[in-house]
Amino acid sequence: MSEIVEVPAEAFSSLVESYLNGNYRLYLIVEEMPEKKTFSCKEKSCGLPFDAYPPDDAHTDALLDPTKDAVERSYKCPDGHVNTLYWVKPPSGVFVATKR
Ligand SMILES: [Zn+2]
Repeated sequence: MSEIVEVPAEAFSSLVESYLNGNYRLYLIVEEMPEKKTFSCKEKSCGLPFDAYPPDDAHTDALLDPTKDAVERSYKCPDGHVNTLYWVKPPSGVFVATKR
C-alpha cells in the first residue's frame, strides 16, 4: 500500500526516520508548484513591474526571445504595454528545489 504524505521541510527528517523505523519503503516525490515571477516592462520609458505565472509546472523559466518548444504568453504591465514571455523547461535534474 502506498500513501503520499505532504510534510513541511522542517518535519521531513524526523518523519523519514519514523517511517524507516516502521519498516516502510520510502519514495521521494518532489513537486514544484508554479511560482509567480515578477518582471519589468520592456518599454524603456515604462519599466513597471508586472507579475507572470508559469503556464504549467514544467515550463518555469521565462525568456524574452522565442526558442524551440517555448510556451508563448503575453502579459500587460500596469500601463497596458504588452510583454511577451517565452516559457521553457529548466535544465532537468533529479531534485528540484523551491526558492523561498
Ligand atoms: Zn509598460
